[in-house]
Amino acid sequence: MIYLDYSATTPVSYDVLESYNKATRDYMGNANSIHALGVKSKVLLNSATKQLCELFDINEEELIYTSGATESNNMALKGVALSYKNRGNHIIVSKLEHPSIYAICNFLELQGYEISYVNNDRNGLIDFEDLKRKIRPTTILVSICAVNSEVGIRQPLKTIRQIIKKENPNTVFHSDMTQAIGKIAVNMKDVDMASMSAHKIFGPKGIGFLYKNSKVNMTPLIHGSGKFNDLRSGTPPLPLVVALSKACRIALTDLERRESVVKKLNDRLIEELGNIKGITINSTKYSIPHILNISLDNVRPETFIHALEEDEIYISTNTACASGDLSTSVMAIYNDRYRAISTIRISLSYVTTNEEINKFLKIFKLRYEQLSRMMRG
Ligand code: PMP
Repeated sequence: MIYLDYSATTPVSYDVLESYNKATRDYMGNANSIHALGVKSKVLLNSATKQLCELFDINEEELIYTSGATESNNMALKGVALSYKNRGNHIIVSKLEHPSIYAICNFLELQGYEISYVNNDRNGLIDFEDLKRKIRPTTILVSICAVNSEVGIRQPLKTIRQIIKKENPNTVFHSDMTQAIGKIAVNMKDVDMASMSAHKIFGPKGIGFLYKNSKVNMTPLIHGSGKFNDLRSGTPPLPLVVALSKACRIALTDLERRESVVKKLNDRLIEELGNIKGITINSTKYSIPHILNISLDNVRPETFIHALEEDEIYISTNTACASGDLSTSVMAIYNDRYRAISTIRISLSYVTTNEEINKFLKIFKLRYEQLSRMMRG
């Protein structure tokens, strides 16, 4: 098998699974219970949380465990919208967000909030002037992803934060960091809030977190006993928390060297695929090397993906969450409908090998040639 869909999800690493299993086996107590079993679990929970916070240089009360990035995004956008509704009703997002952000915005629009979409240039970079123009005294929130999931565009969060705060110091800046964490260095000081999912970094599915700076107010979406965290009640999922903490520790190790390994693989792919007639590279100079987005002439992306599947090669159409649809990101960058409905995404990891890329390229060329010949009749 050649798995090149690491941006959709990753397998759980051996060490992470070991931590998960150990916590499940040896720590059955509810961390909210006051007896010895509960206290034992609470100690482990605190230690996993402390390590996680040290990694991101944040305070423990600034970390909220969630079921993953979709929930974190919901919590951030709806929670801030509700909390600051007396201050304003205006929210700005980019045109390069994950579908979950747009679904939340559509919901908020129905509740009376006004959503603006900031423009980007032909390389996917946020148009700073447009952002400046769009920020108003009533702008309560700006949400811009650190790395776009379809084309891998990386945004300069620090600069964006400076622009936002200069125009309106009260505007909260949220960033969906799901595709950034574990791939490139991130700094929580560049944002007020950030979302992530553990399963993108060799952790388990069903856990992620929302970072929320302590100065930001947020109305909780989930109410309950408030014992563990009054912003997201419920019994803490200790094995998942321990696994998340472990996955982050591994993911944040050796980032630069790992990125350079991925860059070499990506360079090869671009060189070889870019030379095939009918293939257009959609990734730009701001794309991280882990995500390569291309458009295919003549062959439908779904057909091509299923053809590769026969050789046990796994890649995506635009994103796993938007499969089969038009790529909103490619559309936002190139404004070309044909290009946006014919995209595929190849996503790499530091565990991807040269041999895998060689084999992938060989089979890719063979299958593409076969299918486009068939289509040409
Ligand atoms: N945001 C981004 C940028 C993503 O790539 C994803 C996953 N495709 C999500 C949010 C949603 O993550 P999850 O499905 O784990 O909730």
